[in-house]
Amino acid sequence: MLVNESLKSYEPVSVKWLSTPHKDYAYYACDGSSYRNYAKDAADDPDNGVMDPEPFYRYYNHYEDGSLHIGGAPDRCNEFADSAISAVNNGYWSTAHQRFGYSSHYLIDPGIPFHSDGVIQQGGQYIWNSYETTYHSIYENYVNGQWTSGYEFKDYVQYNTQSITVTDPEEAVEDNAEHSSQYFDYIWTEMYNDPQNFGSDIYVAYYTAQCVQECAKYAHGLYDYIM
Ligand SMILES: [Zn+2]
Repeated sequence: MLVNESLKSYEPVSVKWLSTPHKDYAYYACDGSSYRNYAKDAADDPDNGVMDPEPFYRYYNHYEDGSLHIGGAPDRCNEFADSAISAVNNGYWSTAHQRFGYSSHYLIDPGIPFHSDGVIQQGGQYIWNSYETTYHSIYENYVNGQWTSGYEFKDYVQYNTQSITVTDPEEAVEDNAEHSSQYFDYIWTEMYNDPQNFGSDIYVAYYTAQCVQECAKYAHGLYDYIM
């Protein structure tokens, strides 16, 4: 199948642009729990290349196609949510928060349009370009660069008071992917037409903020589901 072939063509990804955002989503979802640093410290670990061996699983498990529903993220999110719940049931609170941190990673990744759509277009770039020059990498670098300055996307996470109820982690990942995938075409086209200045486009910022907000709400929902 073409999408799976494209996913397999991805080069190993060593750069972790979204490490800080992942930590923030997990940390602020914990409602001030004294265990929140366990969640924060764990949240970026799934990108370490060990939890999901490169090259294939490093991308496949961090992806869920919003329309085709192909990707390993829902399973991984569910798996760690389950193990977090068994830690809760045994009163192992630090472990529970660590597993929540892992689980949240797989819920948040598909909330980024490059993790929920366009795998065919992206596959082409991975074959011909180095990772750093792909739109995927440039876009994640943009989000990271605007996290605490410029558009300050972190504010949507830090000051979020809403949550989306999670009753089934797999379904939550699929829904979050569906939400973010609607913005992929616009962002991709902007980057294609104006690679130097796409970051100053107000709709790119607005759509990114929509995705960041949705992810923050889902992270809260997942925390409440587990704890
Ligand atoms: Zn990831």
